[in-house]
Amino acid sequence: MQTHQYDVVIVGAGGAGMRAALESSSRARTAVISKLYPTRSHTGAAQGGMCAALANVEEDNWEWHTFDTVKGGDYLVDQDAAEVMAKEAIDAVLDLEKMGLPFNRTPEGKIDQRRFGGHTRDHGKAPVRRSCYAADRTGHMILQTLYQQCVKQDVEFFNEFYVLDVVLTHDLTRGPVPADEQVAVSGVVAYELATGEIHVFRAKAVVFATGGAGKIYKTTSNAHTLTGDGMAVALRRGIPLEDMEFFQFHPTGLAGLGILLSEAARGEGGILRNSEGERFMERYAPTIKDLAPRDMVARAMANEVREGRGCGPNKDYVLLDLTHLEPAHIDAKLPDITEFARTYLGVEPYTEPVPVYPTAHYAMGGIPTTIDGEVLRTNTDVVAGLYAAGEVACVSVHGSNRLGTNSLLDINVFGKRAGIAAAAYATTAPLHEMPEDASAPIVGYIERLRDHAAGERIADIRRDLQETMDRNAQVFRTAASLEAARDDIVELKKRYRSASVQDKGRRYNTDLMEGIELGFLLDLAEIVVAGALAREESRGGHFREDFPTRDDERFMLHTMAYLRPDDSPGGSRVDLDYKPVTVTRYQPMERKY
Ligand SMILES: Cc1cc2nc3c(=O)[nH]c(=O)nc-3n(C[C@H](O)[C@H](O)[C@H](O)COP(=O)(O)OP(=O)(O)OC[C@H]3O[C@@H](n4cnc5c(N)ncnc54)[C@H](O)[C@@H]3O)c2cc1C
Repeated sequence: MQTHQYDVVIVGAGGAGMRAALESSSRARTAVISKLYPTRSHTGAAQGGMCAALANVEEDNWEWHTFDTVKGGDYLVDQDAAEVMAKEAIDAVLDLEKMGLPFNRTPEGKIDQRRFGGHTRDHGKAPVRRSCYAADRTGHMILQTLYQQCVKQDVEFFNEFYVLDVVLTHDLTRGPVPADEQVAVSGVVAYELATGEIHVFRAKAVVFATGGAGKIYKTTSNAHTLTGDGMAVALRRGIPLEDMEFFQFHPTGLAGLGILLSEAARGEGGILRNSEGERFMERYAPTIKDLAPRDMVARAMANEVREGRGCGPNKDYVLLDLTHLEPAHIDAKLPDITEFARTYLGVEPYTEPVPVYPTAHYAMGGIPTTIDGEVLRTNTDVVAGLYAAGEVACVSVHGSNRLGTNSLLDINVFGKRAGIAAAAYATTAPLHEMPEDASAPIVGYIERLRDHAAGERIADIRRDLQETMDRNAQVFRTAASLEAARDDIVELKKRYRSASVQDKGRRYNTDLMEGIELGFLLDLAEIVVAGALAREESRGGHFREDFPTRDDERFMLHTMAYLRPDDSPGGSRVDLDYKPVTVTRYQPMERKY
C-alpha cells in the first residue's frame, strides 16, 4: 500500500474534472485520479454542442436561457442554480475559445451557433441558435483543449487508478449525524490497475467528477466505463443521491444499438418520420416540432411504435430523415454521426432515412451539491471539503429533464466553481485524521470477489440487470413494471454476493474492476427504481402510465435517497426523503411547446 498527501484530489479527468483541475492546481497542491487516460473520458464522445446566450447569430440573452432550462426540466430545476449556469455560460465558452478551442465560425468570424431542442427565443416563441459547436465533435475538442491546458500547467495525473472508496470523519451509514457536528472528508482509496496495488490519498478537499451511470441500461449511448462509481461510492458512505429516478432517454440512438446520433441532426434540419412517412412531431409539439425537449420526443417515438406506426420488419423504430439536406451541408456539420449510420447500420444518410429509437443517455440526478459544488449529506448540511461536479452531481440545473448542450455547459461552469471552492477551502482547512486501516473495507471487498472459487460470471449478472432496467424502467413505467425491476434487483444482488471473477491475477485485472463496477450499478439501479416507484406522477424524463400527469401538490420536490445496509435478502434498503425546489422567478406552468 502507498500513501499520498495533497491539498486537493480530483477524481475523474473528463470535462468537469479537468476544468476543476485548471482552477485548483494554480492555487493548491492538486492531484487528478482517473480510471481512464484523460482523453478517453466520455466528454470526448459528446457531439452536438455547448450552449450560451452569446447572441452571435440572432437575438438572445441569459434570461431566456434560464427560462428554457427551468421549463425544459419541468420545473424541478433549482432556479438559482440555473440562473448561475446561464449567466456564466458566456464566460465558459469564451474561456474555452481563449484556450484555443476551434469552434465553427460565422462568415464574420464569430463563434457560430445552432439550434437544439427546447432552446427558444422569448420564452418559447421559436427555436433559437444558442449552441456553440465544433462540427459534431464538440466534446472531443473540449476534452483535448482542457487536457492540453492541464499538461501546460503541469497538473499531476494518476491514470488508470480506480477510486473505490471515500473516507469521512464520521460514519453516516447508520443514520444522520447531528447538524452541529462537522463531518469532513479525509481522502480516498484507489486501486492501481497496472499493479493491483492499493493507494491511499489523504487530502483536505476531494472533488468527485466521475461522470454518469448509463450502464445500468442495456440500450445506451454511454461508454462501457460509465458505471456511476462516484455516485455509488458516496452512497455507500451514507451520502444521499438526489433525483435519480430521472434518467434521460435520448430520442435518436441508432435502432437496436443505442449509439448516439446527436440532436444536432435535427438542429440542422433533420425530421423524424413514422411508417406512414408522417412528420409525427407536428402532432405532439406543434410550435417547435422535432426540436421539442428530449423527454417529449422520446415518448412520442415510443408511442408511434406502440400504436403500430413503427418502421422496419418488426415495426420497432422510426426514421430520422436527412435526405432533404445538401450533402455538402451534412459533411460540414454532421460528418461523424452520418459516418456512424454508414458503419453500423449500412445506411447512406444522403439518400436513405436512418432507423432510430430512444437510448439511455444521461443521469439528471446524482450527488446533491450547492452551487459551489459542496456535497450535501442531508437536505441542508454539507460534508466539509467534499465536492462534486459534472454528470456525477445534481446541482440541480437539469431538474427532471436536461436540455441538449446544457451538460457540456454544466461541466465547464460547475467544474470551474468546484475547483475554485475546493482550493479555497484547502488553503485554510486542516488535513483530517485518516485511520490506519482506512483501506481495509475495500481491500476485503476486492479479496472476496477475487477469492470466490467458482461463482456466477459478472457479465451474466450485468446483462440481466441491464435487461430488466430496459424492460421495466425505461421511457414508460408503471407500478407493476417497477416492482418487477425491484424484485429482480434483489435477486441479482443475492447472485452478486457469490459471483466470481475468472482472472485471479494482480496486474491489469479489468475482470476484477468490472466486478466492482457491477456492484456500483446494482446499488444505483436500486435507487433509481425506488425513487421511480415512490414518485406517483409524470414529470420530465419520468413517465408513469398509471399517473400520467404532473402532480405539483405532492411531488414538486427533489428526491433524496439513502442506501442503508440491513439484513434483508438484498442486503440493503432505500430510505427516501424529499427536499423543496428553489423557485425564484418562474412559477410552475403546464409545459407545452
Ligand atoms: C455520446 C454522447 C454524446 C453527448 N453529446 C453531448 C452534447 O453534444 N452536448 C452536451 O452538452 N452533452 C452531451 N453529452 C453529455 C455530456 O457529454 C456528459 O454529460 C459530460 O461530458 C460528462 O462529463 P463529466 O466530466 O462529468 O464526466 P466524463 O467525461 O464521463 O468523465 C468521467 C471521468 O471520471 C473518471 N472516473 C470514473 N470512475 C472513476 C473511478 N472509480 N476512479 C477514478 N476515476 C473515475 C473517468 O476516468 C473519467 O475521466 C453526450 C453524452 C454522450 C454519451
